[in-house]
Amino acid sequence: MRVGIFGGTFDPIHIGHLMAASEAHAMLAFDTTVVVPAAQHPLKNGSSATPEQRLDMVRLAVEGDERFEVSTVDIDRGEPTYTIDTVRDIEQAYPDAELFFVTGADSLATLDRWKDAQALRERVRFVGVTRAGHSLPEEIAGVTLVEVPHVRVSSTEVRARIARGMSVRYLVPHPVETYIREHHLYGGGTDG
Ligand code: ATP
Ligand code: MG
Repeated sequence: MRVGIFGGTFDPIHIGHLMAASEAHAMLAFDTTVVVPAAQHPLKNGSSATPEQRLDMVRLAVEGDERFEVSTVDIDRGEPTYTIDTVRDIEQAYPDAELFFVTGADSLATLDRWKDAQALRERVRFVGVTRAGHSLPEEIAGVTLVEVPHVRVSSTEVRARIARGMSVRYLVPHPVETYIREHHLYGGGTDG
């Protein structure tokens, strides 16, 4: 069994995440892709959703898509959380699976400075997905690169748009947009 792991803060999840996960899933023929929202958001200012809200939005985003499942291992563990911990927990859930860790060009650039990078490389194969605005070398040793149709969207931009009262329609799945409005997340107003 081939299992993809896709971690992130997902504050909120957007179509860039979904396209990246979807392309990696198809290109590497995963049997399932496990989406893992991180425990704590690295943002320093207060305009972020709670872990439970981020989890709700991830669930809404992948609902009905049989390829994806959502794991709470990082949120359950609490912070600080490292990829090596995530991988160990997913290993328990899929003891005989071949594990792949999917990550965007921006995160991949720092790969060798991740905690226990060597142990990680022994446990998972890394899959690097392209991301608009971030360049990837043509080849990184031991990393499979996947080209994703470029959509220049980030959670930061989604939050900023909400705060300014701008539309995020088509940048996030519709149920996620509704959720953001209903919960007045990211400094948005009450009307939609
Ligand atoms: P923020 O702006 O808050 O940092 P983000 O949009 O970068 O949010 P993260 O939750 O930090 O989202 O990213 C989770 C993973 O998804 C990372 O591996 C990141 O590189 C990847 N990713 C995010 N946006 C895109 C995109 N538009 N295309 C491809 N990969 C992406
Ligand atoms: Mg990011």
